[in-house]
Amino acid sequence: MSSSSPLRQDVLVLGAGMVGVCTALQLARRGHRVALVDRRGPGEETSSGNAGIVQREAVVPYAFPRDWPSLRDAALGRSPAVHYHLRALPALAGPLWRYWRASAPARHARSAVAHSALIRHSLQEHLALADEAGARHLLRPGGYHAVFRTAPAWQAAAAEARRLADAHGLSLTVRDGAALAQAEPGLQARLAGALHWQDPFCCPDPGALVRAYAARLPALGGVLLRGDAQTLAPQGQGWQVQTEAGPVQAARAVLALGPWIAPLAQRLGYRLPLFAKRGYHRHFRQAPALSGPVLDAERGLVLAPMAQGLRLTTGAEFARLDAPPTLVQVARATAAARELLPLDDPREAEPWLGRRPCTPDMLPLIGPAPRHPGLWFHGGHAHQGFTLGPVSARLLAELMEGGTPGLGVDPTPYAPQRFL
Ligand SMILES: Cc1cc2nc3c(=O)[nH]c(=O)nc-3n(C[C@H](O)[C@H](O)[C@H](O)COP(=O)(O)OP(=O)(O)OC[C@H]3O[C@@H](n4cnc5c(N)ncnc54)[C@H](O)[C@@H]3O)c2cc1C
Repeated sequence: MSSSSPLRQDVLVLGAGMVGVCTALQLARRGHRVALVDRRGPGEETSSGNAGIVQREAVVPYAFPRDWPSLRDAALGRSPAVHYHLRALPALAGPLWRYWRASAPARHARSAVAHSALIRHSLQEHLALADEAGARHLLRPGGYHAVFRTAPAWQAAAAEARRLADAHGLSLTVRDGAALAQAEPGLQARLAGALHWQDPFCCPDPGALVRAYAARLPALGGVLLRGDAQTLAPQGQGWQVQTEAGPVQAARAVLALGPWIAPLAQRLGYRLPLFAKRGYHRHFRQAPALSGPVLDAERGLVLAPMAQGLRLTTGAEFARLDAPPTLVQVARATAAARELLPLDDPREAEPWLGRRPCTPDMLPLIGPAPRHPGLWFHGGHAHQGFTLGPVSARLLAELMEGGTPGLGVDPTPYAPQRFL
């Protein structure tokens, strides 16, 4: 294709993580000709390296801790759940201050209402896409265990979990230490207790699921191209992006670039308060078998059985988006995990690093850019982007079609306008 004959599609979707791939699919299923553009292959950033849990139970988004012991432990570097780069804090101070304020009980409860409205449909939308993509084997039922080392933490979490399970119709089994040891004999430490959330499905290879969804696109009339989203520019009544196959034009463009939405949006005049909670993983070949993922709730790490071995994922690291990886948090998480079960040497010399794209109010951005006709934002799904991709993409596609969104979800709380 020469640069004088650009490819013309209906919609450009920029970013092929779980969110962008699902956006492309939901639009293509509705008859739109889509070009899905990424500088890498589908799902090669954060959407591949996560813990793979479709968190149907996550009706409440992750709040900024407001209790003194958690803040003290994070500040002093005592908790493997949180780590920060001192030099990144000045730039992060603004969004984190807003995140802290939005985590006050009344405001957090409002965000939870909007978060649960999407989460409620997350599993059924995943299963629908997985069936169409022939990828149902990559989503397994059985849920996961959140385990607790201390009785007070377990008892407090169990009381809150029972309240949420009742309010949202979720399946939950609360197990004491002995019952947990029977259910997950691979955990060799004697723990205080656990919550077994039974609704979630778990994926043994998150990257393979994203690739399977992306592979469905050509059959629906879409194209998958390599290109740099930073080349996006207005063109006539629409948008143009440069790709390895030449320029591609469309009336509409969706920015689904995870945390990289912010720099492109800024070039177009929008200051979105997006920030990243970075997280690491490593695989271990020799480890006792687990029936499903285990969240060590008091250390913020997950042990998830994966195709590549047992995957250890870490909590949140606050750092510049592209600062080099540091080993501090993964080393702390590995030491904490070895208190639960024996692990051999990690498979990878260097840990994998991913970036959870976060907004201060813990809700994603799903909607139009206020000052550019045809430009849409889709991202900021934080800790649950792997879970929310399909349902959030369905909502976006329905908004782009201009009708009343299905599923009965009110899109107002996710409108990018709230920050602009
Ligand atoms: C350790 C860890 C564990 C997690 N566990 C879970 C879990 O169990 N369940 C869950 O639901 N969520 C989980 N998450 C969160 C989840 O992984 C993210 O919310 C989700 O992957 C975000 O998807 P995305 O498509 O928005 O972003 P990404 O997957 O980051 O995709 C963004 C895409 O944009 C592309 N891109 C960026 N810049 C450009 C450019 N200039 N030009 C072209 N392309 C570009 C990138 O290459 C990438 O493919 C976890 C995250 C981490 C870090």
